[in-house]
Amino acid sequence: MSSATAGSQGRIVVVGSLNADLTIYCERLPLPGETVHGKGFAVNPGGKSANQAVAASLLGGNVSLVGAVGVDANGDMLLSSAAGAGVDISGVRTSPTEATGVAVIAVDSDGENNIIISAGANGTLSPADVAVEAEAFDGAAVVCLCLEVSLDTVEAAARAGHDAGATVLLNLSPYAEIPQQLADLTDVLLVNAHEASLFLGSAEIPGSDADVRDWEAVRLRFAEWGLQRVLVTLGAHGSVVLDSLAPSGQQLVRVAPVKVKAVDTTGAGDAFTGAVAARLSAGAPLAGAAAFASVAAALATTRKGTQAAYPQVADVERVLA
Ligand code: ATP
Repeated sequence: MSSATAGSQGRIVVVGSLNADLTIYCERLPLPGETVHGKGFAVNPGGKSANQAVAASLLGGNVSLVGAVGVDANGDMLLSSAAGAGVDISGVRTSPTEATGVAVIAVDSDGENNIIISAGANGTLSPADVAVEAEAFDGAAVVCLCLEVSLDTVEAAARAGHDAGATVLLNLSPYAEIPQQLADLTDVLLVNAHEASLFLGSAEIPGSDADVRDWEAVRLRFAEWGLQRVLVTLGAHGSVVLDSLAPSGQQLVRVAPVKVKAVDTTGAGDAFTGAVAARLSAGAPLAGAAAFASVAAALATTRKGTQAAYPQVADVERVLA
């Protein structure tokens, strides 16, 4: 569990992916076999872990990123974006053989998206990289993980975080089945509604307008896995905190959505995850971290792109004031 206390800002170690986002904006997403005309193209820094690291850093976190890029222009762009946001990139190594990872993204006029990823250098990240960066885990408050790198690497990082007494925050995205031992190392699981329903092997996730009490069965199902603290994001409908470690009566918390005009929801989940990591590293309670993250992620949807769209602490505080 977190060694951070209220008022202190413990280090966040983010282990995972960096991708160049190749984005085409279009009126509507193509159906299988269909071609549609785009309305613009952009290359931006992305990758779930790089996004989460940048979001956390802009929101006041003290962040170290562990990952891999190729020796190419996309890699340079990613490193300079992360460093520019204040992230310590000394743990990002360059692969001599693989290109930097890329994500090909289509965004429609409602801000909805679909994404294809080519892992490139991210696919070379291994438990050995976690071992090389062992010092980064010493005294860390939060270790932030997602599933865009190998499960072996994620599990090694989760174990290093657990052994260091950090809060291990696992974003189960893109969805993959995880072994029980990774669940056992996870302090806070973060999923969207779709991932939650895939994980639990059913479609029994309450509708977005359901009463918070309808989430009780979901809390119990996650707890059967030993996952005591779970955040479920619901897009424009906000999120739900399932906290089996909270006193009775406070184990289910509905975090209301923040009303904004969404332009591009790409990376909203990463902004949410980074914001949760930042608040947990400062010793905030889980529900408080989710409320803060809800504002940060909503603001991130009001501008195009991912990292370039992420807010600073002052932007979030203005909304909360
Ligand atoms: P993505 O994969 O697009 O990054 P995700 O599926 O992981 O997103 P979502 O549940 O869509 O995650 O969004 C994460 C959080 O972002 C939500 O819980 C909410 O707080 C915020 N959010 C997303 N879309 C909107 C929106 N249109 N308006 C306000 N807040 C939003």
